[in-house]
Amino acid sequence: MTEQNGDLVFLPLGGTGEIGMNLNLYRLGETWLAIDCGIGFSGNDTPEAEILVPDPTFIAERKDKLAGLVITHAHEDHIGAVAHVWPLLQCPVYVTPFAGAVLRRKLGEARLLQQMPIHVIPCGGEFKVGPFDLEFIPVTHSVPEAQAVVLRTPDGVIVHTGDWKLDPDPLVGPPTDVKRLKEVGDEGVLALVCDSTNVMSSGPSRSESEVRRSMTDLISGLKGRIAVTCFASNVARVETIAMAAQAAGRTVVLVGRSLRNLDVAARECGYLSGVLPFLTEQDVNDVPDDQIVMIITGSQGEPRSALSRISLDMHPNVSLGEGDTVIYSSRMIPGNERAIMAVQDNLSRRGVRVITDKEAFVHVSGHATGDDVRTMYDLVRPKYAVPVHGEWRHLTAHAALAQEKDIAPILLEDGDILRLAPGKVEVVDTAPSGRLALDAGRLLPMNGGVLAARRKMLFNGVVIASFAVDDEGFVIGEPKVSAPGLLDPDDLESVRVREEFANAIDVIPDELRSDDQSFRDAAKTALRRALGRKLQKRPLVDVHVLRV
Ligand SMILES: [Zn+2]
Repeated sequence: MTEQNGDLVFLPLGGTGEIGMNLNLYRLGETWLAIDCGIGFSGNDTPEAEILVPDPTFIAERKDKLAGLVITHAHEDHIGAVAHVWPLLQCPVYVTPFAGAVLRRKLGEARLLQQMPIHVIPCGGEFKVGPFDLEFIPVTHSVPEAQAVVLRTPDGVIVHTGDWKLDPDPLVGPPTDVKRLKEVGDEGVLALVCDSTNVMSSGPSRSESEVRRSMTDLISGLKGRIAVTCFASNVARVETIAMAAQAAGRTVVLVGRSLRNLDVAARECGYLSGVLPFLTEQDVNDVPDDQIVMIITGSQGEPRSALSRISLDMHPNVSLGEGDTVIYSSRMIPGNERAIMAVQDNLSRRGVRVITDKEAFVHVSGHATGDDVRTMYDLVRPKYAVPVHGEWRHLTAHAALAQEKDIAPILLEDGDILRLAPGKVEVVDTAPSGRLALDAGRLLPMNGGVLAARRKMLFNGVVIASFAVDDEGFVIGEPKVSAPGLLDPDDLESVRVREEFANAIDVIPDELRSDDQSFRDAAKTALRRALGRKLQKRPLVDVHVLRV
């Protein structure tokens, strides 16, 4: 790629053509700017990995030219990868106070707190990163302090919305600053890079204040223990649940680590000030059943979450049963349906009543509907529309909306390098992009050895053989063969495999026995042959040769 002086490009490395794991790059001349760095949860197509991050190699190779990373809001799919990817980028990070509080708690866990230069920018603040003149514009979303970013460059003005919606009464934080968006529109905007998640919903967005009224009515009419699950970062919703509980004379208890972390971050930044301090799960059994509301993690069926464990009656402090109610104040994220249903089934089996947004009005989306997006185009009036943050059907529906407004849409895939100026706006090149698995704090390539082996083990099992040899390479004693996930140790087939393998290693040619690597390879071939076609699988095989 040619990096001419003065041109302006946009390059999404994550979040386009799929929902989640945002990593957006802009380049002005030679200098890069990153916006957001998030994680995604693996769907059913990659069971060997649980958490994914966008592959940052392209920008990591150019980190000397990366002026900064701007975070639009504190959702995991925008901020969750910072602690893991930043060591490869080593640039200053720009956040609002709330996103900063959330990030610092994550960095404390990753021991990066001392190294990372974090610049806290007030909501609606203006700041400069390298050659980019930037401005935050407050927008409403399902987390406090979400900001759209205005990029002012000599080549034109870009508005990057991040995640947003319109809500005249969001209860926590100000409504989307439509006045400021219109003023920026008056300056003349080259391109609007805009959230597509909920663009296929019609009508205006519904308000958090409507949820609060509905939740208050619902909770006041219920008996027994009540547990409400929602996203920990949705501070307005946590406040809604707490207010509804207080109105019904119930005490609020937080159950789950991410909720406790977010509660601390929120109160640090002045949120939840009208809500009494929450009790912790150790206090649950001190409060009578009909005087308690638990706010609880696990709305997406996460197996280690508090709600999953309660559904199996395996939580150390909390149990739910006949006469109790669990309210899902959240939506199902695609890919999580089966896990969520399994938890709901287990709760129902225990006699717990489950109420979701299908049975009662207990949730609104944090993303702009089609009508909201139309309003955004009326305010900003860009020359070009670049739909991002959506799967293909969302991006194409969004493009159609832009066209209705006579704005030229440009559809991109992750890795497309879009030249915005000078000259014709077009995709000029492609950057390598992809996903890495975040595995116990390490970043692993999806097509690398560790995950390939795990994929193979998951479906085909693993067979490990070990045996001892003397210094001349003759086998001592009996080999051991184990095949967890494939054969039981006392299975007749196990006995057959071990005997065939023992016979085969006895006849490995002498010249292969002196070199460990050749001996091991020959033994692996023997093991594969002993497993034969009978298993109709090609398990991962490994052999340990011990010289004694
Ligand atoms: Zn978000």
